[in-house]
Amino acid sequence: MRAWTPSAVVCSALLLSPWVASATLAPTPRDLSACLAELQAPARQAGVSAATWRTHTTGLMSEPRAVAALNTQPEFSTPIWDYLAVLVDEERVAQGQAMLATHADVLRRVHARFGVDPATVVAVWGVESNYGQGFGRFPIVQALATLSCEGRRQAFFRGELFAALRIVQAGHFPAEQFVGSWAGAFGHTQFMPTTFERLAVDFDSDGRADLMGNTADALASTANFLQRAGWQDSQVWGFEVQVPKGAVPASGEGRRVKREASHWRSLGLRRVDGSDLPANLPMAGLMRPSGPQGPAFLVMRNFDAVFSYNAAESYGLAIAHLADRLRGGQPFATAWPTDDPGLSRAERRSLQTLLLMRGHDIGEVDGALGEKSRAAIKAEQARLGWAVDGRAGQRLLQTLRQL
Ligand code: CA
Repeated sequence: MRAWTPSAVVCSALLLSPWVASATLAPTPRDLSACLAELQAPARQAGVSAATWRTHTTGLMSEPRAVAALNTQPEFSTPIWDYLAVLVDEERVAQGQAMLATHADVLRRVHARFGVDPATVVAVWGVESNYGQGFGRFPIVQALATLSCEGRRQAFFRGELFAALRIVQAGHFPAEQFVGSWAGAFGHTQFMPTTFERLAVDFDSDGRADLMGNTADALASTANFLQRAGWQDSQVWGFEVQVPKGAVPASGEGRRVKREASHWRSLGLRRVDGSDLPANLPMAGLMRPSGPQGPAFLVMRNFDAVFSYNAAESYGLAIAHLADRLRGGQPFATAWPTDDPGLSRAERRSLQTLLLMRGHDIGEVDGALGEKSRAAIKAEQARLGWAVDGRAGQRLLQTLRQL
């Protein structure tokens, strides 16, 4: 029996994400002192000493980009085919396979202790920080203080702020190095402060759970999170299925609506290679992220465990699919319902190079379509007589290649 209910690590990373970069046109910082004065007593009750509070909150100004990012989370605002094209591209698959080899010994021991397989752990790592290449650069206390005083979900972020201050107070990380995502998530696999306090593991037994500086600690902590969220080593997360046209109503089914295998068999569902559903299929829900027209998946409890890491189905699918690809699995068999599929990071860099050649100031060619790239995309869309929305897919890339 579990006393602990998994709560989302929420809005974790996507640090190298083009979407956060697009939230840079934000208002100027505001003085947080009036709001923070009201939080001092609850902070004391939560174990933050007066000295810690004074040292780390005096004179704190807000970080407007944190609030802007909260309102534009890509998991909820980006078409799923764009989201997955970036998070599960060939580069991330190749780098992940290299990481599986490099860290094989640690991953084998993590699997033995927590019962979560190497590909799943590495997939979380790849999506959260691009295998340690981007942790985020926001001072965590400042970002969380801002979100405790402005925007939605202030009560949630106050709990995280107090935890962040307890972490600094306990000396886990020097305050000046305690940086992470706009939402306060940090390290290789982007734990929120309360998640760190509950679940961080000192896997190499050096006396410190160092999720920023030590890969073994970070990978073990991730596996610990998934195990506590109900991961079953004997099961898969789910798999893509064929659904006979019209066999399942467009609404009423989903990840949470778990049904017996016999139910799905009676409706004619099969695996995408045409084979029967597995004989021992556990209770499973039918998830169709883009409705009846796109890929469909039967998902089990392991998908829910990944979902609890960052409560968005698109996020869960990115992790689950990347893990399958790391094991040698194929891209989805069914196309997304769009005539303009999304771009990988390599294709985004190609697009940026083409925009540069056409005289647009897009800044650095980095594969992240930020403010300047979007302005250039809009200019090209207008010139082509297309709808001007700033989104770039295969159609724009192919068109510019032919000019
Ligand atoms: Ca350690």
